[in-house]
Amino acid sequence: MTQPNDGTVSLDKVVKRFGTNTVLDGVSLDITKGEVVAIIGPSGSGKSTLLRCINGLEKIDGGSILVNGEEIGRRPTPNGRHPYAELKPQELARQRAHIGMVFQSFNLFPSMTVLENVTLAPRTVLGLSAEKARASALEHLGAVAMADFADRYPRTLSGGQQQRVAIARALAMEPSVMLFDEPTSALDPELVGEVIRVLKDLATRGFTMIVVTHEMGFARDVCDRVIFMEGGEIVESGAARGVFTSPINVRTQQFLQRVL
Ligand code: ADP
Ligand code: MG
Repeated sequence: MTQPNDGTVSLDKVVKRFGTNTVLDGVSLDITKGEVVAIIGPSGSGKSTLLRCINGLEKIDGGSILVNGEEIGRRPTPNGRHPYAELKPQELARQRAHIGMVFQSFNLFPSMTVLENVTLAPRTVLGLSAEKARASALEHLGAVAMADFADRYPRTLSGGQQQRVAIARALAMEPSVMLFDEPTSALDPELVGEVIRVLKDLATRGFTMIVVTHEMGFARDVCDRVIFMEGGEIVESGAARGVFTSPINVRTQQFLQRVL
């Protein structure tokens, strides 16, 4: 048996279709606890869909996804005609609570202060008292250098500050796995660095991280592994330095020539 919240992610031949469009075409992938993985690849290759499937935002059409050793969205049935049953919404919500997700567009709640944004899910999903949630939120805001902004509203913050709050909000749920979907793509160039610094810090703290990114410097210097996706498939996967210095696949080579 795998330990709960052990921070592993395991995909086996995952297929995802939208209508007749096969967006993930048999994706297999094993990520160990604390591993930091970059996913790179052209627009439309299925990177966001992959993250959304891992955190149960999308139902898959084939294969399986295990996070923390637990299958996302399904459970085995004893001797049933169908070997699996879909999880009830509240069971899926419990699984999803351990998987942090940070989006390109921050997605903070505009009518709530920074502190309220960070305490909401710990209070409603984890059942923390107001006092405990506040103490935890201030700690996580401190880790992204945003504790002084606890009473501000998102609209009064820069994009980089909003994204750091969004990261603190995800961390406040004490996730074992963190997913980032182009966390710096919506930022003005001068604000990219502050968010990258936070990601670098998280990478040293033992989180399992999957980061879809166009920041090739981050992928090469910080990530343990780089995965190149195209057309819904993993075309190449390997140690960051190897993939960047001597990509094996011709499609990876062509992509890197365009972006580097
Ligand atoms: P990437 O993040 O690599 O740019 P996406 O995962 O967003 O790629 O999209 C992969 C493909 O899936 C694209 O062809 C996109 O149009 C399609 N797609 C994504 N989400 C949906 C959806 N909700 N409905 C229909 N098609 C979708
Ligand atoms: Mg995307």
